[in-house]
Amino acid sequence: MKGVDWGILYNTYKDEKYNTKDIEKETEKLILDDDVTKKSGIYPYILTRNEKYLSIRAFSDATKQKIYEKQKGVCVACKEKFEIEEMEADHITPWHEGGTTTDKNCQMLCKECNRRKSGK
Ligand SMILES: [Zn+2]
Repeated sequence: MKGVDWGILYNTYKDEKYNTKDIEKETEKLILDDDVTKKSGIYPYILTRNEKYLSIRAFSDATKQKIYEKQKGVCVACKEKFEIEEMEADHITPWHEGGTTTDKNCQMLCKECNRRKSGK
């Protein structure tokens, strides 16, 4: 292909993917992260940035029940009332921004709002 500067492309790619020091540091951090339940997914995650490889810990049923009661069954986003079966637990601060899977960082959204939020 003419007109493509392969040198620049290569350097960008290299710095992004193969900075081994950064990868080591991040791997170490992820191994110690209790919310990362699938340690074998750490390397694929670092390469792709797809959180599905890490199986980030889900909120427990006890947490869901507690937050549901605290919210009195009302979805935080649309303010409608739902049964607990119609709702899903959501990280208030996303995991990749430092939010943990704890009661403090849990909110209940109706399924529709949760879908809208996560863009799935
Ligand atoms: Zn809602």
